[in-house]
Amino acid sequence: MLKVTKFGGSSMADAGQYRKVRDIVLADPDRRVVIVSAAGKRFSADHKLTDLLYLCHAHVQYGVDSTPVFEMITSRYLEIRDELGLDLDLESEFAQLKEKLDAKSVSQDELVSRGEYFSAKLMAAFLGFKFVDSADWVKFAMDGTVDKEASYPALQELVGEGEYAVIPGFYGVMPNGAVRTFSRGGSDISGALAAAALNADVYENWTDVSGILMADPRIVENPQPIPEITYDELRELSYAGAQVLHELTIFPVREKNIPVNIRNTNDPDHPGTIIQEDYKNESDPDRVVTGITGKKDFSIITMFKRGMTSQVGVLRKVLSILERHGISVDFVPNGIDNVSLVIPTATLAPHLYNVMAEIQREVKPDNLTVLDEIAVVAAVGHRMAFRPGVSGKIFAALGEKGINIRMINQGPDELNIIFGVDNKDFAEAIRVLYNSFVK
Ligand code: ASP
Repeated sequence: MLKVTKFGGSSMADAGQYRKVRDIVLADPDRRVVIVSAAGKRFSADHKLTDLLYLCHAHVQYGVDSTPVFEMITSRYLEIRDELGLDLDLESEFAQLKEKLDAKSVSQDELVSRGEYFSAKLMAAFLGFKFVDSADWVKFAMDGTVDKEASYPALQELVGEGEYAVIPGFYGVMPNGAVRTFSRGGSDISGALAAAALNADVYENWTDVSGILMADPRIVENPQPIPEITYDELRELSYAGAQVLHELTIFPVREKNIPVNIRNTNDPDHPGTIIQEDYKNESDPDRVVTGITGKKDFSIITMFKRGMTSQVGVLRKVLSILERHGISVDFVPNGIDNVSLVIPTATLAPHLYNVMAEIQREVKPDNLTVLDEIAVVAAVGHRMAFRPGVSGKIFAALGEKGINIRMINQGPDELNIIFGVDNKDFAEAIRVLYNSFVK
């Protein structure tokens, strides 16, 4: 059995958090491979190490003395080392890095990757595990994607059967050996790649929440955590804002059918959320809705054209106008002789007048309107497909609270019901749904 465990920035923020991580890792001998982020915030006004590293690079770029920021960074690591009583020479590596920095011979990616690098050095020393540098196994192709055929065998070579290792997240190397990072939050991807490379039984992703919550805690008071969710449901939930994992995390583990377990470093006894292909021993088979999410600030363009349902090519014309402007459309609900296009306002606004004029000219609709300040709310759940009356219940509950529904959309996979309400009704709509499906 192999558990690949990844610890996020808040789990690496200070010596106290390192101790929690060590207790978690050592509590289970299957937790042999540990991936770490750079140190995160210790309190809300604190800085993430990665942010400080970007800032440090900007100082150098604009010719401002980077020494004070650089010292903020190094002192965080030295504090952790000294508090944990580790015998590790970081000073000479810091000095070398500062020299390269002053000579402007370190790229932004290489500099910010050092956050994860030093975290992993410290954690490896603390756990007594081997340090495995991600520059030695995460290999990017020229197009910026990870070359799995090269990366997986490289990691298998470095971490043998039964070996214990700590690996920095967030970076790898380009074919020419230059360090390259993933986008922000990318240590999740490193952990998923390591789990896939080593054919782990589970990928544990340790963070500071007890799993994925059924709704945003800023809107719903104490939302329940989701015990189990499928990869597909998670994709639907993350579309509309529920951000727990970097969106590219799922691909490598899904290919190998490795479940992901989201856990809380500050509450290690909580089982968290399991993300997998399908439900196995579903704890609550009566639960219809897995999660409720949404986002604000959409615009809806609605077009009515008599006889359009039986005409060929009308929709194509409208969509190609949007394509010309580089606008992707999120939803296309339609009726008889009318169609709506639901688009984030920020994307549409700069092109709105041209788009409307072109639709008018090329499609000649009988009526064309645009509505702003729309929020999209999504109820996601694999069981919705098999339960008649779910939408009825949703709409009755909203109606009772006087919330007007501006758009309805159900995907053909019936994994979700998505509807639009006015921005001002957004939070209330989420609460109403939560209260009618979760008790
Ligand atoms: N440290 C990086 C960031 O803050 C990567 C990560 O933590 O996942 O984005």
